Amino acid sequence: MTHKPTILLTGGAGYIGSHTYVALVEAGFAPIILDDFSNSSPVVLERLQRICGQAVVCQRGSVADVALVQSLLERHQVAAVVHFAGFKAVGESVAQPLKYYANNLGGMVALLQAMDAAPCRTLVFSSSATVYGDPVRVPITEDFARSHTNPYGHTKLVCEDILASMRNANAALRTGVLRYFNPVGAHPSGLIGEDPLGEPNNLMPYVAQVAVGKREFLNVYGNNYPTPDGTGVRDYIHVQDLAQAHVAALQTLLRGQPSFTVNVGTGQGHSVLEVVHAFEQASQRPVPYRVAPRRAGDVASCYADPTLAQHLLGWRATRSLADMCTDTWRWQSANPNGYKKG
Ligand code: NAD
Ligand code: UDP
Repeated sequence: MTHKPTILLTGGAGYIGSHTYVALVEAGFAPIILDDFSNSSPVVLERLQRICGQAVVCQRGSVADVALVQSLLERHQVAAVVHFAGFKAVGESVAQPLKYYANNLGGMVALLQAMDAAPCRTLVFSSSATVYGDPVRVPITEDFARSHTNPYGHTKLVCEDILASMRNANAALRTGVLRYFNPVGAHPSGLIGEDPLGEPNNLMPYVAQVAVGKREFLNVYGNNYPTPDGTGVRDYIHVQDLAQAHVAALQTLLRGQPSFTVNVGTGQGHSVLEVVHAFEQASQRPVPYRVAPRRAGDVASCYADPTLAQHLLGWRATRSLADMCTDTWRWQSANPNGYKKG
């Protein structure tokens, strides 16, 4: 039997981590999970076991625990880490900035300390298109100026800078920074998907909850943007495509290629109303909406130029908006309360 490289997924029980777990198993890796379940459910582990047909190795704990992470890296001879763990709600980060600085920056520093000691020298990091702030034009290329409009975005920017300093100090460290655009969709099995706590902040889970009857209508935040139909335009990317981008990033780094920072998007923008109509098609359910005032901090249009990822990683997104809606609907209709029973 050939040796399967072990990959540590911090935050691997979360939305993107769980889908990446499946993609890594399919690609011949041995992923293991570290998660404190602050924003996820242990039920996901049973689901992953069902999808992959094998036991899931998961350690409950925080990435901020240097000794724990170091012992995991050593015990499992981890070849590379994918660092998903962190908090991600923009509005909450404005209300509770220290919660975000402590977890997102503290987690990154602790992880790097543990990797340094173990040693483990290969890391893929979940960054975000939020590091572009309000982009001067679209599509966005990686060389655009970075800025931030909230503490969450600030933590992503600082994490990118911490990684740059560490690469500068340690030539052996190789990092893949993935700037995700708008991840949506679910695994086609309908067994795993996005399970937001409370009222969703993001468009797709909100639309899905309206379609399934959990919420009465969608608020469309503004219809007077300078976009074709006046509503906000984003680069929605299927979480399965995103998961495969992580596989490609790890394969590239483990082949010995240099560090990189790439956009992970489709290159295509869709408006809020396009998403609403695509979801109605996929679900065959109405999605009533009301136009509401613009949401503070929103930009009109944000989509990637994904050329660099294709060039460096040999990866590109293949799934359509219809696929994203179909797979979200399968997950939402089979699990109206997410991972909670009932
Ligand atoms: P998620 O909340 O579903 O997953 C994050 C996981 O990390 C959760 O399971 C949570 O319990 C865990 N976690 C949080 N703090 C931890 C800690 N200190 N120690 C161990 N585990 C911890 O979020 P997601 O959507 O899967 O996002 C994953 C990463 O991608 C995050 O870093 C997020 O900022 C980034 N990102 C997400 C999006 C998006 O729209 N979902 C977009 C851009 C970037
Ligand atoms: N949006 C909306 N109603 C909602 C949630 C989002 O109209 O309930 C809009 C939002 O204004 C933006 C788009 O949908 O134009 C995507 O928002 P999301 O929060 O999903 O992503 P982000 O703005 O962080 O890229």
